Parts: sequence; C-alpha cells; structure tokens
Amino acid sequence: MMSTETQVKFDVLGLAEPLLKAIIETGYNTPTPIQAKAIPLALQNLDLMAGAQTGTGKTAAFALPLLQKLLPLASTSTSPAKHPIRALILTPTRELAIQVEESIKVYAKHTALRSLVVFGGVDIKTQIPHLKTGIEILVATPGRLLDHVEQKTLSLNQVQMLVLDEADRMLDMGFMPDLKRILALLPKQRQNLMFSATFSNDIKKLADDFLTNPTLIEVARSNATAENVTQKVYLVEQSSKQALLSQLLLAENNQQVIIFTKTKVTASRLSRALQKEGIAADAIHGDKSQKERMEALDAFKAGKVTALVATDVAARGLDISDLPMVINYELPSTPEDYVHRIGRTGRAGASGVAISLVCEDEEKYLVEIEKLIKRNIDKEKSDIKTAARKPNIHLASEQNKNDREIDSNRASHVKPRQHVRKPSADPWFDKPYEPTVTKQNTAINQGINRKVPLAALLGGLKGRVKT
Ligand code: AMP
Repeated sequence: MMSTETQVKFDVLGLAEPLLKAIIETGYNTPTPIQAKAIPLALQNLDLMAGAQTGTGKTAAFALPLLQKLLPLASTSTSPAKHPIRALILTPTRELAIQVEESIKVYAKHTALRSLVVFGGVDIKTQIPHLKTGIEILVATPGRLLDHVEQKTLSLNQVQMLVLDEADRMLDMGFMPDLKRILALLPKQRQNLMFSATFSNDIKKLADDFLTNPTLIEVARSNATAENVTQKVYLVEQSSKQALLSQLLLAENNQQVIIFTKTKVTASRLSRALQKEGIAADAIHGDKSQKERMEALDAFKAGKVTALVATDVAARGLDISDLPMVINYELPSTPEDYVHRIGRTGRAGASGVAISLVCEDEEKYLVEIEKLIKRNIDKEKSDIKTAARKPNIHLASEQNKNDREIDSNRASHVKPRQHVRKPSADPWFDKPYEPTVTKQNTAINQGINRKVPLAALLGGLKGRVKT
C-alpha cells in the first residue's frame, strides 16, 4: 500500500497513473532532486542538458517523462508496424545500456510500451528477431546501433525522443563520429535530453550541436563529488600498494569494494593476486567477453565476489546499490574519471568511502583532481613496511602498453576462490562491518576520522587503536 504522502510527492510531477504505480511498487518514495527538476520540464517537450552525477536517479529522470509521452501511442497490437522505434537512448557502455533498459522495463510494466537493448560483443543475429517484433524504446550503444542501421534491421525514421546518457563518457570513448552519424539519421523534429556527470567544453559543444534551446539543469555543482562520500588519500610507495590494498580489504571484513586500476593488465593481475590472499576477487574489463563481464558483475551483486577490480571503461554506469567503498589502486590521469569512480559509492543518499592509493608519480594527477572537485582531500603518509615481502602489481604506464595487449589476449574469466578470511594481526579488524551504522563507527572511517596512524590502522602499532 502506498501512503498518501508518497502519492502526493510523485503526483506533483504530473506523471500518469501506470507510471506512478510502477514507481511506488519499485519502492521509490520521493523524487530525487534531478527527477523533481527534469521530469516536469521534459514533459513540456523541452530539450534538456542535465548535469547529474551517477547515482542521482537520472535514469528515471529521463525514462519516466519519455514513457509518459509515448503512452498515448502504446498499442497492444501484435503487428510490428504498430510498434515503431519512437525513443532512442544511447549509452556509452553495454553495462549501462542493460541497466537502463532493465529500469525502463520496470517503470513501463503497467503499460503496453515495449523496450529492447542492443549492444556489441554479442551475435547481432540474436537481436534481429526481437527488433522485428517491434519496440517503441530502444536502448543502444552507438556502434551496435550503426551495425543494425547498416544491416537495415531497424528504422529510426519515427524517433521522436533522443536521450544521450553519460554524454561525457561517450565523448571520452571517442563516439563523436558515431553520434554524428546517428543524429543525421533521426527526424529533425524531436526532443533531446542529454545527461552528463561533468561539463567540459566538448560537452557544451555537443549540446550546441544537437540540442535546441536547451534548458540547463544541475542538481549539484558541476564536477563536484558526492557530498556523502568520505574521501581519503594514502601516500604510498608503488611497491607497497598491493600490501596496503590487501590490508584495507581484509579490514573491510568481506564487504563489497570496487577497486579501480588504469589498465586491463593491472586489473587482471591484481585480481589474481588478491585471490591468492584469500580474497574473493574478480576483474572486469574491456577484454573480457560480454558473458564474462556479466558473470563477474552478477557474482559481485550476489556477494560471491567481494572485491571487483575494474578499469574505468568497464565500470561506467554500473549501478550497484549500497556499495560502501571504492578504492583507487591507481589514480586516473583524467580528473573527471575520479568523479565517476567515486560516484560508485555513496549512491542514493547512502554514505560511502573513497580511498586512493597514491604514489609519487601520481601526485600530479591528485593536484588536477583537487582542482576539479575544488577541495583538498585528506592525506596520510603510509609507512607500511609489510609490503616489501609481497609481490607487487606494477603501475602500468606508457612503457608497458605492449604488456597490456599481451595480457589482454590471454585474459580469461578467473573463477573466484571461496573467500577464506585470514586472521588479522589485530582483533580490531575482526569487528564485522555494519553498513547501517554511522560513518564514525566503520573500520576505515575510524582511521579517517580519528587520524589514526596508518600503521595502526593496518595492525602495525598494536594497542594504539581503541575499539
Ligand atoms: P541512477 O542514477 O539512475 O543510476 O539511479 C541510482 C539508483 O537510485 C538506482 O538504484 C535507482 O533504482 C535508485 N533510484 C532512482 N530514483 C529513486 C527514487 N526516487 N527513490 C529511491 N531510489 C531511487
């Protein structure tokens, strides 16, 4: 049963009954700020340029008005001709495409509107029969959409709404030429909604190119990081990073953490090294097959994998709820990627922790990140000594590009071993992590908030940390 208060809150946005019903059933009580701003404007047929960080509820912000506007055209007919593609949603990655389409199915469940997702990396032939049945809403990655256009397996001449999700990502990934080709195939008369976590000059140019008098909406300062994410930097020698990471993970007591690396090769190697430490780790990166990526993601969502090592590309758009922590094993060279990475935690109002392991070579990236987010991140020098005996995962830099290719060719899906938690030197680490308690009570945050020396946090200075 939905409460009257809940109904009123979503009611004021002017959404139709079948959509309201689905939202309430999904468990949403109040619209998020981006939804409260975007939905009424989108319903007025305006073009939008929306700045919203990951985890702000941006999918529903575009999906709900889109569904509402297509409602009068919904048909229960089985004839494919009654179900032309009327809305096109472009996303940079397969994972995001899948998630967006899953959300659309949920929001559209009380309507006759049909949706489908198409992305590369899987046999195009498997997608054709679904397209042939007719669908109103198509979620696609740009490359695969163009493959279908070339094969004439879909038609875009009735598209009246276009959504560019994570537009900044699409530009980063070099999709501009594909986007231009796609835009040229769409009817001129259409509504455009563009969502981007960050606003660069390139994004503004893209908006100029394809939006008509867009209304700019932002729910947080552009390029700001989520307020509810506690950020922390450990200044650490490159050779000590792996030991520090293992300790941090073990201290987290089997809670889910995403670990970011810059390259595929580091992601694969690090995941294997963590498995050897008894941590249920797996890697997700662009060289894994779609099936492997989905298996790793499902295992992570199910809690079978607790440490998911990911590259930026693979992690884009992942919606994993209640993720308490993100660790940057290597800092990204593009500061915007830092904003995206830490957006994986602290979603939908929950608090999160983002830890970065920064070696001397990476301090220049840190300067850029702090400039972008307009704040200084709390730093602590790591004096971890246990590291010397651990094999180290090297920071993959320009000089080992070849290595990346070699590794990527033999990268295979590594089945995570059963997680066997090693006893830690300090019983303090045996305290279970409690996601519902306040930040101050969690193991890592104690280190952050009480300025505990890192050696103590990692069990090196016995008796210094009080539980
Ligand atoms: P998004 O930014 O679209 O990836 O959404 C992030 C998460 O917030 C997803 O798990 C959504 O299901 C959830 N969400 C979206 N809108 C709401 C809402 N109004 N209330 C609660 N959760 C929401």
